[in-house]
Amino acid sequence: MSRLKLRIGYLYPDLLEVYSDRGNVTILQKRAEWRGIFVEVDRITVGDNPNLSDYDLLFSGGGEDREQLLVAEDLLKKRETLISAVDSGTVVLAICGSYQLLGHYFETIGGNRIEGVGLLDLYTVGGKKRLVGNAIGKLNILGSDLTLVGYENHSGRTYLGPEVTPLAEVVNGFGNNGEDGSEGVAQGTVFGTYLHGPLLSKNPVFADHLLELALRRRTDNPFLEPLDDSWELQAHERVVRQYAQAGRR
Ligand code: GLN
Repeated sequence: MSRLKLRIGYLYPDLLEVYSDRGNVTILQKRAEWRGIFVEVDRITVGDNPNLSDYDLLFSGGGEDREQLLVAEDLLKKRETLISAVDSGTVVLAICGSYQLLGHYFETIGGNRIEGVGLLDLYTVGGKKRLVGNAIGKLNILGSDLTLVGYENHSGRTYLGPEVTPLAEVVNGFGNNGEDGSEGVAQGTVFGTYLHGPLLSKNPVFADHLLELALRRRTDNPFLEPLDDSWELQAHERVVRQYAQAGRR
């Protein structure tokens, strides 16, 4: 039997890369390879014209408003292939700046309106005070008491429309906007979040969930052998112990 294969598309690695968001790609790659899966990672940036349906998983990191402007223009050109990919079951994980660009628009604090691709029913407006700090959210997916931990730093306040649901409910931190207690978004195979960290280093269960969803494009019944996640889970628990009491900000 030939080895299972996973193709990851890493979008805009040269422009959207803050807080070592690229670590998430390494984590996904390694966790798959440790299960004997053959992984290919392609870097895709401005001016490239890939067929995004060729990828099982697309990842994009955070970035500052200036870089977002450059990316947004290009992402609009990739809109059709992105939508077809999502229709074909491709998993998308977008952090902070790129999460914002999946919505309708991001109006920066400087009054610049950056058009998003409208893949997700949400919009973002820049605020004066940056929303910064360690954050914890109770996941709305995977049907349990699982938490997501990470670090957020954004001026944008994201507001979800009726067509999407939050990825998590804020236990500590600001989340999408510091007002309604929502954090990130989950719609089918598309996930957006404000959490850096890199997010997946401290959230191995979420990392495997993404891998499983992505592998469904390749096999009906993806089985990921359990890994020794004791260090990752210790790091996760440490954040929960340290910050859970602080509450929403
Ligand atoms: N520039 C965006 C904001 O400040 C995103 C920042 C980020 O990706 N960390 O809201």
